[in-house]
Amino acid sequence: MGVLTTEPLGRVLDYRAPEGGCGDGDFVEVPLGPRRVLGVVWGPGEGRFDPSRIRPVTRVLDARPMRAELRAFLAKAADYTLTPLPAMLRLATRAPGLGAPPSTRRVYRLAGPVPNQLTEARHRVIEALRAFGGAPVTLGELAEAAGCGASVVKGLVKLGVVAEEDTPRDTPYPRLKADRGMRLAGDQVEAGDALVADVARGGYAATLLKGVTGSGKTEVYLEAVAECLRAHRQALVLLPEIALTAEFLTRVEARFGAKPAEWHSGVTMTERRRLWKMAAEGEAGLVVGARSALFLPFRDLGLVVVDEEHDTSYKQEDGVLYNARDMAVLRAAICGCPVVLASATPSLETWANVEAGKYRRLDLGSRFGAAELPEMRAIDMRAEKLPGDRWISPTLAAKVDAVVGRGEQALLFLNRRGFAPVTLCRACGHQVGCDHCDARMVEHRFQKRLVCHQCGATKPVPLACPACGVEGRMAAVGPGVERLAEEVAARFPEARVAVLSSDLFGSARALKEKIAGIAAGGADIIIGTQIVAKGHNFPLLTLVGVIDADLGLQGSDLRAAERTFQLMRQVAGRAGRTAERKGEAWLQTHQPEHPVIRAILGGDEEAFWAAEAAERKAAGVPPYGRMAGIILSSPDVAQVFDFGAELARRDGPLRRIGAEVWGPAPAPIAKVRGRHRVRLLVKAEKAAPLQAALAEWLGQFKPPRDLRLAVDIDPQSF
Ligand code: ADP
Ligand code: ZN
Repeated sequence: MGVLTTEPLGRVLDYRAPEGGCGDGDFVEVPLGPRRVLGVVWGPGEGRFDPSRIRPVTRVLDARPMRAELRAFLAKAADYTLTPLPAMLRLATRAPGLGAPPSTRRVYRLAGPVPNQLTEARHRVIEALRAFGGAPVTLGELAEAAGCGASVVKGLVKLGVVAEEDTPRDTPYPRLKADRGMRLAGDQVEAGDALVADVARGGYAATLLKGVTGSGKTEVYLEAVAECLRAHRQALVLLPEIALTAEFLTRVEARFGAKPAEWHSGVTMTERRRLWKMAAEGEAGLVVGARSALFLPFRDLGLVVVDEEHDTSYKQEDGVLYNARDMAVLRAAICGCPVVLASATPSLETWANVEAGKYRRLDLGSRFGAAELPEMRAIDMRAEKLPGDRWISPTLAAKVDAVVGRGEQALLFLNRRGFAPVTLCRACGHQVGCDHCDARMVEHRFQKRLVCHQCGATKPVPLACPACGVEGRMAAVGPGVERLAEEVAARFPEARVAVLSSDLFGSARALKEKIAGIAAGGADIIIGTQIVAKGHNFPLLTLVGVIDADLGLQGSDLRAAERTFQLMRQVAGRAGRTAERKGEAWLQTHQPEHPVIRAILGGDEEAFWAAEAAERKAAGVPPYGRMAGIILSSPDVAQVFDFGAELARRDGPLRRIGAEVWGPAPAPIAKVRGRHRVRLLVKAEKAAPLQAALAEWLGQFKPPRDLRLAVDIDPQSF
């Protein structure tokens, strides 16, 4: 039989069936060279060898077989992204403790009185147990939390201070109750009915659910989830951000009487194992997760929802390069269930799929019981005469005063982390860069260090210029949220200020708590980066000020207009979410006549999309043409360019499908962690068989040893 292993160079290999046999999709352990590795039975195999000469499967693991639907999905996804199948399989087997059959696990808790005289390490174990607050904790988790070896814990067990006991391993998730939804209103009714009908009917159907923030999209798709639960099938809701889930989980709990299963990088390994298994058993009715939840082994998937479908964080940029939104549509198509893409500002890809008749579009017109998006207006910064080290215009400052005076909240949005984006020597003009990347170092004043946003490297803020040696002339140039916070503190000394920037929080939990505090009225002025743009609900917020609306329009990226348009509308959508309060949004800009800024202010969304679509059509770029990026990286800059040039020269297979190759050129991020990066872009007609041609083309070359090659289908920037 054929077994696919997760080994990097693996492919489907022939093995002999074990005694007792096994079937397609079974998880098995097989010998590979001197080792035993994890694999999945992937069909009958080639049968080329005499069965007596091939090695047998070592054992069949105690797990539900991987269903044909998931295997087909992995195979298609591997083909589409030009990823080796074993790497795809790894995404689907990453979490589970496969081959760990015991149905109980050993956990530890405090038992007896704690003696006064304890060694330092034993003391840490006690502290760690207290920190877990009585929750069951395994030996591994405990040793890690205490920073000691397992023997220390065992020693305490002998003393009778700590007890060990076996508990059932995996408890199912509580059943969600489907029957306590809100009564939908207005155009929510029609949208909800349509989605519920899709779920009831079963089968693939793709829908764009479009409506401004607060129009009730979540409420509507939760109706479809409820229908799914009533039919005892499973639903998957993908969200772009961990920070979003806190609010979301509470809401689901209110709607369904219990929390759903959660899957993202912040979830413990133990919990992931449980979810992986429960998903396979059909015991997790609703899974809310980040993009990797797509690879869970659902027993009976009845609905997939991708919330904030335009969000760029759905694109996995490391390892296997895939766009979770597109993969969600693929999985729904293969498994034969409806998929809902929800957004206030859909991606142009989705918009084009609606135009092409591939997706149905459901619109939620106005906000639930309230007005439209707040009115957006420009502040022409050329007229504001601000000194070079200040960023809040007098016009905007006056609005903030008024809002805060009424006891409401103002949000100042600046999509730049840190204190200042540039550290510059006023004597020679040198800008401090990262030693490993092609990036400028950003000053972070809370950490008192310069940080590279590319690789995370840090160094002290230099007193003397590293280039010319002159002392005392180093200056922080340009605004970041931390510097904006200083300006706010000076300008509004009475106001309570909260800074929301992902790097200021040690954990997702700390960020969640901060957000909850702000929503409850714990701040007058919120200063935030991109993370505030996403879905958080601040009921008192009525004014949004965008500090630099021009920021996203710089550079040559063809998607810049789309991104800026989406981001500005989203940020503005934070203001005035409730019926009682009306919001306003002000954009500080140096180019109020720029077409994108005008489109944002004009609010004629359909006109913006149509114009943007026409431009992309004319250029033959996605979504009206197909593109792939080939990223080459190596510590040796000459090597990457030479190899890139070699690729570009021998482009026969691409020319045969009428595709063009651009480059090699420095990649959008030209150097990361000491590796130089070069990119080639391949552009083809929409209908061209791009993947096959790419595979044939790249198959001609054998990259040098230090050189890495990654294929990025549908790159984010081009
Ligand atoms: P979106 O997902 O489009 O941002 P939500 O579904 O979060 O919108 O709805 C915004 C707010 O309005 C939420 O607090 C929600 O509970 C409320 N809401 C939406 N629809 C209704 C309804 N039919 N009845 C009562 N409240 C509603
Ligand atoms: Zn760096």
